[in-house]
Amino acid sequence: MSGSGRAERLLETAREMNLQGLNRGTAGNASVRLADGAMLITPSGLRFDRCEPGDMVVIDADGHAEGARKASSEWRIHFDIYRARPDAGAILHAHPPYATALACHRRPIPPFHYMIARFGGADVRCAAYHTFGTQALSDATLDALRDRSACLLANHGMVVVGRDLDHGLALAIELEALCQHYLLSRQIGRPVLLDGTEMNEVVARFGSYGQARD
Ligand SMILES: [Zn+2]
Repeated sequence: MSGSGRAERLLETAREMNLQGLNRGTAGNASVRLADGAMLITPSGLRFDRCEPGDMVVIDADGHAEGARKASSEWRIHFDIYRARPDAGAILHAHPPYATALACHRRPIPPFHYMIARFGGADVRCAAYHTFGTQALSDATLDALRDRSACLLANHGMVVVGRDLDHGLALAIELEALCQHYLLSRQIGRPVLLDGTEMNEVVARFGSYGQARD
């Protein structure tokens, strides 16, 4: 895909995040991996419905931004994930209502539903709280993403790692739906959790993270 084609797809995905209720206003961001350690990321503080593909920001392998726009304030999280995770082709960060509500409790989402396995294991972890835009938050996010394709960010939102933009968007929608299901099930007590054997079986069926199929 050409550079401008990639920017168009990235912007389409960012707009779709708003349409799907994953983000409101200028919250959240998305990125896609480019060749040679570079990445393309949404700009800071601009509404996606008013952006053009040319507003997307290239960040090179040294972490330097190119172009007229300032990169999203969470660019470090994206940059560090691409360096650490060869399976990452696209990354989405959002503040969706249900995932963010759960993230404010700073607890992992337990195996209350078999689809939790779609994210690589028996839970979806919550990264420790750090100020937005900091290296400390990026480090905590990478830690929470170990062997997983998604995590919550304490008192903040969620991050998902996809093979490509479509996969990342599908994972983000799935995670938000699961967070809604979990919150609903907690309204009438504590849901019965799947055990280790049951979750291992589903993880094996889905295959390793990043290749999950349902
Ligand atoms: Zn954020």
